[in-house]
Amino acid sequence: MRAVLIGWKELAPGIRHFEFYAEGAERFAYLPGQFVSLSAVTASEKKITRAYSIVAGTGQDNRFAICLNIVEDGQFSPHLFGLKPGEGVDLKGPIGTFVLRNPLKDSILVATGTGVAPMLPMLIEALGRGEGQQFTLIFGVRHAPNLLYAEEFQELAGQYPNFKFLPTVTRPSSDWTGLTGRVQPHLVAEIGERRDLDVYVCGLNEMVSGVRELLAGMGFDKKQIVHEKYD
Ligand SMILES: Cc1cc2nc3c(=O)[nH]c(=O)nc-3n(C[C@H](O)[C@H](O)[C@H](O)COP(=O)(O)OP(=O)(O)OC[C@H]3O[C@@H](n4cnc5c(N)ncnc54)[C@H](O)[C@@H]3O)c2cc1C
Repeated sequence: MRAVLIGWKELAPGIRHFEFYAEGAERFAYLPGQFVSLSAVTASEKKITRAYSIVAGTGQDNRFAICLNIVEDGQFSPHLFGLKPGEGVDLKGPIGTFVLRNPLKDSILVATGTGVAPMLPMLIEALGRGEGQQFTLIFGVRHAPNLLYAEEFQELAGQYPNFKFLPTVTRPSSDWTGLTGRVQPHLVAEIGERRDLDVYVCGLNEMVSGVRELLAGMGFDKKQIVHEKYD
């Protein structure tokens, strides 16, 4: 299969939402939270493969979107940023077990940076089921303009009283009135005395490992922690 670029838009400096068409797929169906594996022979003349969480897509018209930040000296992300509409890369997937647990429980989702990408389709699916569980998304970034898909999450929070969106910023500007600092203290505060929650965590290893250790120390079972590490 090929992922053919339809177009992209910039979400924040160095961060783009890319829309692709899955060419050669009979039907591109995915479970919210899953990722695609993209490969290409890049400037280094080596074939490089990288994973990207699916942030959006109907699954019906074989379109899907991913969101990524450029790693300036990275081997693959600059290649994707250099693609023009109509150009493509090899595509495998959708793959992955970072998906909603069944049955759904009251859950806290924790993401930093582009780790928020899989959370959007997961929340749309979970809230759309209308089963009434409580969901909280704690989303951490350095600077407020990097709160990717904030409008979509605010909209979900307006639509569903059982969803709470908690963005937090580690380097707030003077006009930021929301939460500040890393995600961990906010997670502890949201958990309170409860130990019956599922926690979904996605982002770079340092945060994901830190949150897993924190939860283990609070008495959470491994099965209650669903995680995806980007590096
Ligand atoms: C299951 C899975 C899903 C992923 N989904 C996404 C996604 O939705 N969006 C996304 O941007 N990335 C995602 N990644 C990371 C992605 O696969 C690449 O690792 C990333 O684009 C860097 O690749 P590169 O070849 O440009 O950099 P490399 O040449 O591989 O350089 C690696 C360096 O970049 C760092 N790095 C890796 N990912 C990131 C990142 N996202 N932000 C900052 N530094 C990073 C690593 O720690 C390392 O220092 C995912 C990874 C996995 C395993």
